[in-house]
Amino acid sequence: MSEIQLQQLVKKYDDVTAVKGIDLNVRDGEFLVLVGPSGCGKSTTLRMVAGLEDVTDGTLQIGGNVVNDVAPKERSIAMVFQNYALYPHMTAAQNMKFGMKSASDFSSAEIDERVENAAETLSVTDLLDRKPKELSGGERQRVAIGRALVREPEVFLLDEPLSNLDAKLRVQMRAELLKLHQDLSTTTIYVTHDQTEAMTLGDRVAVMDDGVLQQVAPPQELYDYPANRFVAGFIGEPSMNVFPVTVRRQNGQCVAEHSGFTITLPEREGLDDIAGVEADFGVRPEDITLAENLSAATETFKAEVTVREPLGELLLLHCRLGDEELQVKVEPRSQIQPGDKIEVGFNKERLHLFDMTDGDALYHSTPQETTSDPITAE
Ligand code: ADP
Ligand code: MG
Repeated sequence: MSEIQLQQLVKKYDDVTAVKGIDLNVRDGEFLVLVGPSGCGKSTTLRMVAGLEDVTDGTLQIGGNVVNDVAPKERSIAMVFQNYALYPHMTAAQNMKFGMKSASDFSSAEIDERVENAAETLSVTDLLDRKPKELSGGERQRVAIGRALVREPEVFLLDEPLSNLDAKLRVQMRAELLKLHQDLSTTTIYVTHDQTEAMTLGDRVAVMDDGVLQQVAPPQELYDYPANRFVAGFIGEPSMNVFPVTVRRQNGQCVAEHSGFTITLPEREGLDDIAGVEADFGVRPEDITLAENLSAATETFKAEVTVREPLGELLLLHCRLGDEELQVKVEPRSQIQPGDKIEVGFNKERLHLFDMTDGDALYHSTPQETTSDPITAE
C-alpha cells in the first residue's frame, strides 16, 4: 500500500509560511491533482513529500510509515519536473538508467530490460541513443517520465510536467498520462496551475490557495458544488459570474435581489437561515440562456453586449448588466453583435450563494446528493 498522508503539514522559509497546515490523504493507486495559482505552495508541498524540503511541522506518511526524516532515495518515489532535468551529455537511455546502478538491487540486465519496457510504453525506443539536444520538447519530457518509470516507484510526483510543451502536445501528453495511470495505477500527486489539466487528469482534485487547501473533491463535484468563492472562480473557464445580492423573503418565496435583476431561489432546506443577508450570487456563463430559448415562465433580464468572442465551439458574450460585467456562453453561430441588447435568464438548477466575508458557500440551488469528502479529509 502506498497511500500518502499529510497531517497539519507546515513549511516555513524564514518569514514566509508557504504551506499553512495541510491535511490530505492520497489513496493507494489514486491520481490526485494539486492545483492553485502560482506561488500558492504547490511545489513546496510536493517537494516535502519527495523529501527535497524539510517539513517544518506536521506529519508526513507514505505507505503508513512516517517519513518526515527519511531520505528521498528511501521513499520509493520518483519525481518528474517541468524542466525535465536531463543530463545534456548523456543519451536518453543513459539518462533513464542514471542512478539505477547505484541502487545496486538491480543487475545490468534488469535495468536494461526496464529501460526497454519504459521506452516502449512511452514510444521512445527509436530515440534511446540520442542526446537531449537532439530531442524535441515532447520527446525530452517522455524521456524524463521514462526515467521515473524505470524506477517502478510506489509513488509518482509530477510538478507541472507539461508546462513547457505547446498546447497541442500538452493535450496529447495528458491523454498518455491518463493511459499510463490506467495501466500502472501508481499512486500519483500531480501539481499544476492549469485548471483544465486538473479537471481532466484528477481522480480527485485538491485546490490550494495561499498555503491552504480550499477543497478536495472529484472534478465534477468541484465544478458543481464549489465549497467557496475561490474554488468557484478558479475552476471553470471563463470564471463564474459573481454579483453582490440581498437575499430576502418576498410573498413566501426567497429571492436574490440585485440592481440588475431579482431572481427567485429554488426552495432548499437552510434557505431561511440566509434570508436577510447580503451575499455573493454566482452563476456560470453556460448557465445563462437567451430568453428566446427559455420557457415563458422563466424570469429574464436585459443586458447589453460589449464584446463578442467567437471560440469556435461557442460564442462568448461580454455584457453589461446594470453596473456589472456578465459573461454569457451562447450558440456559436449566433449573429449577436456588440451594442445589441439581449434578454437572458439563469439556469435555476445551477445557482450559488457565497458568504460575502469569508467566501464560504451558503447555498447551491441543486442539493448535493453524495456527501463526499469535507475539505481536509481523505
Ligand atoms: P507554487 O509551486 O504553487 O507556484 P511554491 O511552492 O513554489 O509555489 O512557493 C510558495 C511560496 O513559498 C512562494 O511565496 C515562494 O516565493 C515561497 N518560496 C518557495 N521556495 C522558497 C525558498 N527556497 N525560500 C524562500 N521562499 C520560498
Ligand atoms: Mg511550482
